[in-house]
Amino acid sequence: MFVDSHAHLFFKDFENDLDDVIKRAQDAGVEYIINPGTDIPTSKKSIELAEKYDMIYAGVGFHPHDASKADNKSLEEIERLSHHPKVVAIGEIGLDYHYDFAPREKQREVFSQQIDIAVKRNLPIIIHSREAEEDTLQIVEEKVKANPEWRKNLVQPHSRYPSPKGVFHCFPGDSKMAWKVINWGFYISLPGFVTFPNKPTRPNSMVEVAQNVSAEHILLETDSPYLSPAPFRGKRNEPSNIPFIAQKIAELQGLSVEDIGRASNFGVLNLFGVGKYPEPTIAYKLKNSLYLNITIRCNADCVFCDRKGEAVIKGHNLKIEKEPTSKEVIQAIGDPTKYNEIVFCGFGEPTIRFDVVKEVSSWVKKNGGKVRLNTDGHGSVINHRNIVPELVGLVDSVSISLNSIDPKQYGELMRLDGQKYFPAMIDFAKECVKHKLDTTMTIVELDEVDEQKAREFVEKEIGAKFRNRPFF
Ligand code: SF4
Ligand SMILES: [Zn+2]
Repeated sequence: MFVDSHAHLFFKDFENDLDDVIKRAQDAGVEYIINPGTDIPTSKKSIELAEKYDMIYAGVGFHPHDASKADNKSLEEIERLSHHPKVVAIGEIGLDYHYDFAPREKQREVFSQQIDIAVKRNLPIIIHSREAEEDTLQIVEEKVKANPEWRKNLVQPHSRYPSPKGVFHCFPGDSKMAWKVINWGFYISLPGFVTFPNKPTRPNSMVEVAQNVSAEHILLETDSPYLSPAPFRGKRNEPSNIPFIAQKIAELQGLSVEDIGRASNFGVLNLFGVGKYPEPTIAYKLKNSLYLNITIRCNADCVFCDRKGEAVIKGHNLKIEKEPTSKEVIQAIGDPTKYNEIVFCGFGEPTIRFDVVKEVSSWVKKNGGKVRLNTDGHGSVINHRNIVPELVGLVDSVSISLNSIDPKQYGELMRLDGQKYFPAMIDFAKECVKHKLDTTMTIVELDEVDEQKAREFVEKEIGAKFRNRPFF
Protein backbone atom coordinates (compact mmCIF):
# COMPACT_ATOMS: atom_id res chain seq x y z
CA MET A 1 0.00 0.00 0.00
CA PHE A 2 1.18 3.50 -0.87
CA VAL A 3 0.35 7.15 -0.38
CA ASP A 4 0.73 9.71 -3.13
CA SER A 5 1.82 12.60 -0.95
CA HIS A 6 1.53 15.21 -3.70
CA ALA A 7 -0.91 15.36 -6.63
CA HIS A 8 -3.05 18.10 -8.13
CA LEU A 9 -6.21 16.32 -9.16
CA PHE A 10 -8.16 19.56 -9.36
CA PHE A 11 -6.47 20.63 -12.59
CA LYS A 12 -8.35 20.57 -15.88
CA ASP A 13 -6.28 17.57 -16.97
CA PHE A 14 -8.47 15.35 -14.78
CA GLU A 15 -11.78 16.99 -15.54
CA ASN A 16 -13.15 14.20 -17.66
CA ASP A 17 -11.93 11.00 -16.05
CA LEU A 18 -11.21 11.59 -12.38
CA ASP A 19 -13.27 8.59 -11.27
CA ASP A 20 -11.16 6.34 -13.50
CA VAL A 21 -7.96 7.96 -12.25
CA ILE A 22 -9.01 7.27 -8.65
CA LYS A 23 -10.00 3.72 -9.50
CA ARG A 24 -6.63 3.05 -11.18
CA ALA A 25 -4.83 4.52 -8.18
CA GLN A 26 -6.67 2.16 -5.83
CA ASP A 27 -5.96 -0.80 -8.11
CA ALA A 28 -2.27 0.12 -8.01
CA GLY A 29 -2.32 0.02 -4.20
CA VAL A 30 -2.54 3.76 -3.52
CA GLU A 31 -4.50 4.23 -0.32
CA TYR A 32 -4.43 7.99 0.12
CA ILE A 33 -3.68 11.03 -2.01
CA ILE A 34 -2.66 14.43 -0.62
CA ASN A 35 -3.79 17.21 -2.88
CA PRO A 36 -2.13 20.59 -2.22
CA GLY A 37 -3.85 23.72 -3.55
CA THR A 38 -2.02 26.46 -5.41
CA ASP A 39 -4.30 29.46 -4.80
CA ILE A 40 -7.77 30.12 -3.34
CA PRO A 41 -9.93 28.51 -6.05
CA THR A 42 -7.75 25.36 -6.27
CA SER A 43 -7.52 25.11 -2.49
CA LYS A 44 -11.31 25.16 -2.40
CA LYS A 45 -11.49 22.57 -5.17
CA SER A 46 -9.03 20.45 -3.30
CA ILE A 47 -11.31 20.51 -0.26
CA GLU A 48 -14.30 19.63 -2.47
CA LEU A 49 -12.41 16.60 -3.78
CA ALA A 50 -11.48 15.61 -0.24
CA GLU A 51 -15.15 15.77 0.68
CA LYS A 52 -16.11 13.68 -2.31
CA TYR A 53 -13.41 11.00 -2.10
CA ASP A 54 -12.50 9.37 1.23
CA MET A 55 -8.93 8.72 0.08
CA ILE A 56 -8.17 12.37 -0.74
CA TYR A 57 -6.83 14.90 1.76
CA ALA A 58 -6.20 18.55 1.03
CA GLY A 59 -3.55 21.20 1.45
CA VAL A 60 -4.38 24.90 1.16
CA GLY A 61 -2.05 27.69 0.16
CA PHE A 62 -0.56 29.95 -2.49
CA HIS A 63 2.03 28.36 -4.77
CA PRO A 64 4.99 30.71 -5.42
CA HIS A 65 3.74 31.08 -9.01
CA ASP A 66 0.55 32.58 -7.60
CA ALA A 67 2.14 34.65 -4.87
CA SER A 68 1.09 37.91 -6.51
CA LYS A 69 -2.56 36.99 -5.90
CA ALA A 70 -2.02 36.81 -2.16
CA ASP A 71 -3.03 39.73 0.06
CA ASN A 72 -4.12 39.99 3.68
CA LYS A 73 -7.68 39.08 2.85
CA SER A 74 -6.83 36.00 0.81
CA LEU A 75 -4.31 34.82 3.39
CA GLU A 76 -7.05 35.07 6.00
CA GLU A 77 -9.10 32.92 3.67
CA ILE A 78 -6.31 30.32 3.58
CA GLU A 79 -6.31 30.24 7.34
CA ARG A 80 -10.09 29.90 7.41
CA LEU A 81 -9.98 27.03 4.91
CA SER A 82 -7.30 25.28 6.93
CA HIS A 83 -9.89 24.55 9.63
CA HIS A 84 -11.62 22.03 7.38
CA PRO A 85 -11.22 18.56 8.94
CA LYS A 86 -9.67 17.12 5.78
CA VAL A 87 -7.08 19.87 5.38
CA VAL A 88 -3.82 18.36 6.60
CA ALA A 89 -1.25 20.97 5.53
CA ILE A 90 -0.52 24.49 4.38
CA GLY A 91 0.75 24.05 0.85
CA GLU A 92 1.92 24.16 -1.73
CA ILE A 93 4.01 27.14 -0.67
CA GLY A 94 7.58 28.20 -1.33
CA LEU A 95 9.86 29.93 -3.81
CA ASP A 96 10.34 29.45 -7.54
CA TYR A 97 13.16 31.48 -9.08
CA HIS A 98 13.18 29.38 -12.24
CA TYR A 99 10.02 30.87 -13.67
CA ASP A 100 9.85 34.00 -11.53
CA PHE A 101 6.10 34.30 -12.22
CA ALA A 102 5.83 36.51 -9.14
CA PRO A 103 8.46 39.04 -7.97
CA ARG A 104 10.95 37.31 -5.68
CA GLU A 105 10.39 39.77 -2.87
CA LYS A 106 6.66 39.02 -2.96
CA GLN A 107 7.29 35.27 -3.10
CA ARG A 108 9.43 35.43 0.02
CA GLU A 109 6.87 37.54 1.86
CA VAL A 110 3.96 35.23 1.01
CA PHE A 111 5.98 32.12 1.82
CA SER A 112 6.89 33.51 5.20
CA GLN A 113 3.31 34.63 5.93
CA GLN A 114 1.99 31.19 5.09
CA ILE A 115 4.49 29.46 7.36
CA ASP A 116 3.17 31.73 10.10
CA ILE A 117 -0.33 30.45 9.38
CA ALA A 118 0.93 26.86 9.59
CA VAL A 119 2.64 27.60 12.91
CA LYS A 120 -0.50 29.23 14.27
CA ARG A 121 -2.63 26.30 13.16
CA ASN A 122 0.03 23.75 14.20
CA LEU A 123 -0.08 22.28 10.68
CA PRO A 124 2.80 21.01 8.54
CA ILE A 125 3.86 22.75 5.32
CA ILE A 126 4.36 21.43 1.79
CA ILE A 127 7.31 23.27 0.27
CA HIS A 128 8.06 23.93 -3.37
CA SER A 129 11.57 25.23 -3.99
CA ARG A 130 13.09 25.62 -7.42
CA GLU A 131 16.41 27.32 -8.01
CA ALA A 132 15.78 29.17 -4.76
CA GLU A 133 17.26 26.79 -2.23
CA GLU A 134 19.37 29.32 -0.39
CA ASP A 135 16.45 31.63 0.35
CA THR A 136 14.09 28.74 1.04
CA LEU A 137 16.44 27.24 3.61
CA GLN A 138 17.06 30.59 5.21
CA ILE A 139 13.36 31.31 5.69
CA VAL A 140 12.58 27.79 6.88
CA GLU A 141 15.45 27.73 9.35
CA GLU A 142 14.43 31.08 10.74
CA LYS A 143 10.86 29.93 11.28
CA VAL A 144 11.88 26.62 12.82
CA LYS A 145 14.19 28.36 15.28
CA ALA A 146 11.66 31.07 16.11
CA ASN A 147 8.87 28.56 16.80
CA PRO A 148 10.13 25.74 19.01
CA GLU A 149 6.58 24.77 19.94
CA TRP A 150 5.50 24.21 16.33
CA ARG A 151 4.21 20.60 16.12
CA LYS A 152 6.11 19.69 19.25
CA ASN A 153 3.08 18.04 20.81
CA LEU A 154 3.30 15.31 18.15
CA VAL A 155 6.59 13.84 19.31
CA GLN A 156 6.99 11.43 22.19
CA PRO A 157 9.24 12.91 24.87
CA HIS A 158 12.07 10.43 24.26
CA SER A 159 12.00 10.41 20.49
CA ARG A 160 15.29 11.15 18.81
CA TYR A 161 13.41 12.67 15.90
CA PRO A 162 12.52 16.35 15.69
CA SER A 163 8.86 17.28 15.43
CA PRO A 164 7.53 16.75 11.89
CA LYS A 165 7.07 20.17 10.33
CA GLY A 166 6.78 19.64 6.63
CA VAL A 167 8.01 18.17 3.41
CA PHE A 168 10.26 19.43 0.65
CA HIS A 169 8.29 18.26 -2.35
CA CYS A 170 10.21 17.23 -5.47
CA PHE A 171 13.35 17.51 -3.38
CA PRO A 172 15.66 19.97 -5.10
CA GLY A 173 18.97 19.35 -3.29
CA ASP A 174 21.64 16.76 -2.58
CA SER A 175 21.85 14.39 0.38
CA LYS A 176 23.79 16.96 2.40
CA MET A 177 20.90 19.38 2.15
CA ALA A 178 18.50 16.52 2.85
CA TRP A 179 20.17 15.71 6.17
CA LYS A 180 20.07 19.36 7.12
CA VAL A 181 16.32 19.68 6.65
CA ILE A 182 15.64 16.25 8.16
CA ASN A 183 17.32 17.54 11.29
CA TRP A 184 14.83 20.40 11.36
CA GLY A 185 11.93 17.96 11.13
CA PHE A 186 11.31 17.82 7.39
CA TYR A 187 10.67 14.94 5.05
CA ILE A 188 11.90 14.84 1.51
CA SER A 189 9.61 13.72 -1.21
CA LEU A 190 10.72 12.12 -4.44
CA PRO A 191 8.70 12.10 -7.68
CA GLY A 192 9.19 10.35 -11.04
CA PHE A 193 12.48 12.21 -11.62
CA VAL A 194 14.16 9.54 -9.55
CA THR A 195 13.42 7.01 -12.30
CA PHE A 196 15.29 9.00 -14.94
CA PRO A 197 18.75 7.83 -16.08
CA ASN A 198 21.75 8.75 -14.01
CA LYS A 199 24.66 9.18 -16.42
CA PRO A 200 28.11 10.54 -15.65
CA THR A 201 27.50 13.15 -18.34
CA ARG A 202 24.11 14.02 -16.84
CA PRO A 203 23.97 13.02 -13.20
CA ASN A 204 20.53 12.71 -11.64
CA SER A 205 20.95 14.22 -8.16
CA MET A 206 17.76 12.56 -6.97
CA VAL A 207 19.38 9.16 -7.41
CA GLU A 208 22.16 10.18 -5.03
CA VAL A 209 19.58 11.38 -2.53
CA ALA A 210 17.55 8.17 -2.79
CA GLN A 211 20.70 6.16 -2.15
CA ASN A 212 21.92 8.09 0.86
CA VAL A 213 18.86 9.17 2.79
CA SER A 214 17.17 6.53 4.89
CA ALA A 215 13.74 5.39 3.69
CA GLU A 216 12.35 6.64 6.99
CA HIS A 217 12.56 10.21 5.74
CA ILE A 218 11.36 9.78 2.19
CA LEU A 219 7.80 10.31 0.97
CA LEU A 220 6.51 9.22 -2.42
CA GLU A 221 4.76 11.59 -4.76
CA THR A 222 3.64 11.84 -8.37
CA ASP A 223 3.05 15.61 -8.58
CA SER A 224 0.29 14.67 -11.05
CA PRO A 225 -0.36 15.78 -13.71
CA TYR A 226 3.36 16.67 -14.00
CA LEU A 227 6.65 14.75 -13.70
CA SER A 228 5.67 11.33 -15.07
CA PRO A 229 8.07 8.51 -14.19
CA ALA A 230 10.32 7.05 -16.89
CA PRO A 231 7.91 4.71 -18.69
CA PHE A 232 5.41 7.53 -19.25
CA ARG A 233 7.75 10.45 -19.65
CA GLY A 234 6.00 13.36 -21.35
CA LYS A 235 2.50 11.98 -20.74
CA ARG A 236 -0.04 13.09 -18.14
CA ASN A 237 0.98 11.71 -14.77
CA GLU A 238 -1.45 10.16 -12.31
CA PRO A 239 -1.34 8.63 -8.80
CA SER A 240 -1.43 5.04 -10.12
CA ASN A 241 2.20 5.57 -11.20
CA ILE A 242 3.43 5.64 -7.59
CA PRO A 243 4.65 1.99 -7.67
CA PHE A 244 7.21 2.86 -10.38
CA ILE A 245 8.73 5.45 -8.08
CA ALA A 246 8.64 3.12 -5.07
CA GLN A 247 10.26 0.37 -7.13
CA LYS A 248 13.14 2.62 -8.17
CA ILE A 249 13.77 3.87 -4.63
CA ALA A 250 13.65 0.28 -3.36
CA GLU A 251 16.36 -0.68 -5.87
CA LEU A 252 18.51 2.27 -4.85
CA GLN A 253 18.07 1.53 -1.15
CA GLY A 254 18.52 -2.23 -1.40
CA LEU A 255 15.09 -2.74 0.15
CA SER A 256 11.82 -4.20 -1.07
CA VAL A 257 8.96 -2.18 -2.55
CA GLU A 258 6.89 -3.15 0.50
CA ASP A 259 9.59 -1.70 2.79
CA ILE A 260 9.54 1.60 0.91
CA GLY A 261 5.75 1.71 0.95
CA ARG A 262 5.54 0.93 4.66
CA ALA A 263 8.30 3.35 5.67
CA SER A 264 6.91 6.23 3.63
CA ASN A 265 3.34 5.54 4.77
CA PHE A 266 4.52 5.94 8.34
CA GLY A 267 6.13 9.23 7.31
CA VAL A 268 2.80 10.40 5.92
CA LEU A 269 1.04 9.35 9.11
CA ASN A 270 3.61 11.13 11.22
CA LEU A 271 3.53 14.29 9.15
CA PHE A 272 -0.08 14.63 8.01
CA GLY A 273 -1.87 12.33 10.45
CA VAL A 274 -3.23 10.36 7.49
CA GLY A 275 -3.32 6.56 7.79
CA LYS A 276 -3.42 4.00 10.56
CA TYR A 277 -0.83 3.56 13.29
CA PRO A 278 0.86 0.16 12.81
CA GLU A 279 0.19 -2.58 15.37
CA PRO A 280 3.19 -3.73 17.44
CA THR A 281 4.97 -6.70 15.92
CA ILE A 282 7.27 -9.46 17.21
CA ALA A 283 8.51 -10.63 13.79
CA TYR A 284 9.05 -8.12 11.02
CA LYS A 285 10.33 -8.45 7.51
CA LEU A 286 12.85 -6.13 5.87
CA LYS A 287 14.01 -7.03 2.38
CA ASN A 288 14.37 -10.83 2.53
CA SER A 289 15.23 -11.18 6.20
CA LEU A 290 12.96 -11.71 9.15
CA TYR A 291 13.73 -9.76 12.31
CA LEU A 292 12.67 -10.89 15.77
CA ASN A 293 11.64 -8.36 18.34
CA ILE A 294 11.75 -10.30 21.59
CA THR A 295 12.26 -7.47 24.05
CA ILE A 296 12.24 -3.70 24.31
CA ARG A 297 14.36 -3.77 27.46
CA CYS A 298 18.02 -2.82 27.29
CA ASN A 299 20.87 -2.30 29.73
CA ALA A 300 21.94 0.73 27.69
CA ASP A 301 20.23 3.95 26.66
CA CYS A 302 22.01 5.02 23.49
CA VAL A 303 21.66 8.62 22.41
CA PHE A 304 20.78 7.54 18.86
CA CYS A 305 18.21 4.91 19.88
CA ASP A 306 14.47 5.51 19.64
CA ARG A 307 13.64 2.70 22.07
CA LYS A 308 11.97 5.10 24.47
CA GLY A 309 10.43 7.13 21.68
CA GLU A 310 8.13 5.64 19.10
CA ALA A 311 10.32 2.60 18.40
CA VAL A 312 9.15 2.38 14.81
CA ILE A 313 11.54 1.12 12.18
CA LYS A 314 10.64 1.47 8.50
CA GLY A 315 6.98 1.48 9.44
CA HIS A 316 7.19 -1.55 11.76
CA ASN A 317 6.06 -0.77 15.27
CA LEU A 318 8.38 -2.52 17.75
CA LYS A 319 6.79 -1.12 20.89
CA ILE A 320 5.49 -4.41 22.29
CA GLU A 321 3.70 -4.29 25.61
CA LYS A 322 4.29 -7.92 26.50
CA GLU A 323 7.40 -9.91 25.67
CA PRO A 324 6.59 -12.95 23.53
CA THR A 325 7.29 -16.53 24.64
CA SER A 326 9.57 -18.75 22.54
CA LYS A 327 6.49 -20.52 21.26
CA GLU A 328 4.92 -17.27 20.12
CA VAL A 329 8.12 -16.23 18.37
CA ILE A 330 8.41 -19.58 16.61
CA GLN A 331 4.80 -19.30 15.49
CA ALA A 332 5.44 -15.81 14.16
CA ILE A 333 8.42 -17.07 12.13
CA GLY A 334 6.51 -19.73 10.25
CA ASP A 335 8.87 -21.26 7.69
CA PRO A 336 12.42 -20.02 8.37
CA THR A 337 13.71 -21.20 5.00
CA LYS A 338 11.64 -18.48 3.32
CA TYR A 339 14.14 -15.87 4.54
CA ASN A 340 17.81 -15.15 3.94
CA GLU A 341 18.26 -15.06 7.69
CA ILE A 342 16.37 -14.81 10.94
CA VAL A 343 17.79 -11.93 12.97
CA PHE A 344 17.38 -11.15 16.64
CA CYS A 345 17.11 -7.41 16.43
CA GLY A 346 14.78 -4.88 17.93
CA PHE A 347 14.86 -1.78 20.10
CA GLY A 348 16.13 -3.87 23.00
CA GLU A 349 19.00 -6.18 23.90
CA PRO A 350 18.07 -9.79 23.00
CA THR A 351 20.57 -11.44 25.35
CA ILE A 352 18.48 -10.14 28.25
CA ARG A 353 16.24 -13.03 27.21
CA PHE A 354 19.03 -15.47 26.47
CA ASP A 355 16.86 -18.57 27.03
CA VAL A 356 14.46 -17.40 24.35
CA VAL A 357 17.36 -16.63 21.99
CA LYS A 358 18.69 -20.16 22.45
CA GLU A 359 15.35 -21.95 22.17
CA VAL A 360 14.25 -20.06 19.09
CA SER A 361 17.68 -20.32 17.39
CA SER A 362 17.81 -24.01 18.00
CA TRP A 363 14.39 -24.42 16.41
CA VAL A 364 15.35 -22.26 13.42
CA LYS A 365 18.55 -24.23 12.86
CA LYS A 366 16.67 -27.55 13.07
CA ASN A 367 14.23 -26.25 10.49
CA GLY A 368 16.85 -25.22 7.99
CA GLY A 369 17.09 -21.48 8.69
CA LYS A 370 20.04 -19.18 9.31
CA VAL A 371 20.36 -17.13 12.50
CA ARG A 372 22.04 -13.81 13.26
CA LEU A 373 22.23 -12.16 16.64
CA ASN A 374 22.40 -8.37 16.80
CA THR A 375 23.67 -7.40 20.21
CA ASP A 376 25.38 -4.71 22.25
CA GLY A 377 27.91 -7.37 23.29
CA HIS A 378 27.05 -7.19 26.98
CA GLY A 379 25.36 -10.60 27.09
CA SER A 380 28.06 -12.18 29.24
CA VAL A 381 27.82 -9.40 31.85
CA ILE A 382 24.03 -9.55 31.78
CA ASN A 383 23.97 -13.33 32.22
CA HIS A 384 26.93 -13.53 34.66
CA ARG A 385 28.80 -16.06 32.52
CA ASN A 386 30.58 -16.28 29.21
CA ILE A 387 27.66 -17.00 26.87
CA VAL A 388 29.61 -17.23 23.61
CA PRO A 389 30.30 -21.01 23.77
CA GLU A 390 26.54 -21.53 24.12
CA LEU A 391 25.96 -19.67 20.87
CA VAL A 392 28.08 -22.04 18.83
CA GLY A 393 25.87 -24.19 16.61
CA LEU A 394 22.85 -21.99 17.31
CA VAL A 395 23.72 -18.77 15.55
CA ASP A 396 25.57 -18.36 12.27
CA SER A 397 26.60 -14.78 12.72
CA VAL A 398 26.80 -12.03 15.31
CA SER A 399 26.65 -8.26 14.84
CA ILE A 400 28.00 -6.25 17.75
CA SER A 401 27.48 -2.52 18.22
CA LEU A 402 30.97 -1.13 18.66
CA ASN A 403 29.80 2.50 18.62
CA SER A 404 33.24 3.88 19.50
CA ILE A 405 36.73 2.62 20.24
CA ASP A 406 37.16 5.11 23.07
CA PRO A 407 35.71 3.75 26.36
CA LYS A 408 34.80 7.24 27.54
CA GLN A 409 32.94 8.12 24.35
CA TYR A 410 31.42 4.64 24.32
CA GLY A 411 29.98 5.25 27.77
CA GLU A 412 28.66 8.66 26.77
CA LEU A 413 27.00 7.40 23.60
CA MET A 414 25.38 4.44 25.34
CA ARG A 415 24.79 6.29 28.60
CA LEU A 416 26.36 3.60 30.77
CA ASP A 417 29.66 2.93 32.53
CA GLY A 418 32.11 2.82 29.63
CA GLN A 419 35.02 1.64 31.77
CA LYS A 420 33.06 -1.46 32.68
CA TYR A 421 31.10 -2.23 29.51
CA PHE A 422 33.60 -1.34 26.80
CA PRO A 423 36.13 -4.02 27.79
CA ALA A 424 33.26 -6.49 28.32
CA MET A 425 32.03 -5.85 24.78
CA ILE A 426 35.54 -6.25 23.34
CA ASP A 427 35.99 -9.55 25.20
CA PHE A 428 32.68 -10.72 23.85
CA ALA A 429 33.73 -9.85 20.28
CA LYS A 430 37.07 -11.64 20.67
CA GLU A 431 35.30 -14.69 22.05
CA CYS A 432 32.97 -14.73 19.05
CA VAL A 433 35.92 -14.60 16.64
CA LYS A 434 37.70 -17.31 18.65
CA HIS A 435 34.64 -19.55 18.39
CA LYS A 436 34.55 -18.96 14.63
CA LEU A 437 31.22 -17.14 14.59
CA ASP A 438 30.90 -14.84 11.60
CA THR A 439 31.39 -11.58 13.53
CA THR A 440 30.69 -8.02 12.40
CA MET A 441 31.15 -4.88 14.46
CA THR A 442 29.19 -1.75 13.65
CA ILE A 443 29.30 1.93 14.40
CA VAL A 444 26.69 4.60 13.89
CA GLU A 445 27.87 7.39 11.60
CA LEU A 446 28.26 10.35 13.92
CA ASP A 447 30.55 13.30 13.27
CA GLU A 448 32.33 12.79 16.57
CA VAL A 449 33.17 9.12 15.91
CA ASP A 450 36.32 8.33 13.93
CA GLU A 451 35.16 5.76 11.39
CA GLN A 452 38.56 5.03 9.89
CA LYS A 453 40.16 4.27 13.24
CA ALA A 454 37.22 2.09 14.22
CA ARG A 455 37.52 0.10 11.00
CA GLU A 456 41.24 -0.49 11.51
CA PHE A 457 40.69 -1.53 15.10
CA VAL A 458 37.97 -4.02 14.17
CA GLU A 459 39.81 -5.55 11.25
CA LYS A 460 43.30 -5.66 12.76
CA GLU A 461 42.82 -6.06 16.51
CA ILE A 462 39.63 -8.07 16.66
CA GLY A 463 39.73 -9.84 13.31
CA ALA A 464 36.06 -9.13 12.68
CA LYS A 465 34.21 -7.47 9.81
CA PHE A 466 33.32 -3.79 9.98
CA ARG A 467 30.17 -1.98 8.96
CA ASN A 468 28.83 1.51 9.55
CA ARG A 469 25.18 2.41 9.91
CA PRO A 470 23.64 5.81 9.18
CA PHE A 471 22.56 7.84 12.18
CA PHE A 472 18.93 8.31 11.19
S1 SF4 B 1 22.09 -1.06 22.80
FE1 SF4 B 1 20.71 -1.07 21.05
S2 SF4 B 1 18.66 -1.31 21.92
FE2 SF4 B 1 20.03 -0.75 23.59
S3 SF4 B 1 19.79 1.46 23.75
FE3 SF4 B 1 21.56 1.05 22.42
S4 SF4 B 1 20.76 1.04 20.33
FE4 SF4 B 1 19.00 0.88 21.73
ZN1 LIG C 1 2.85 20.56 -6.81
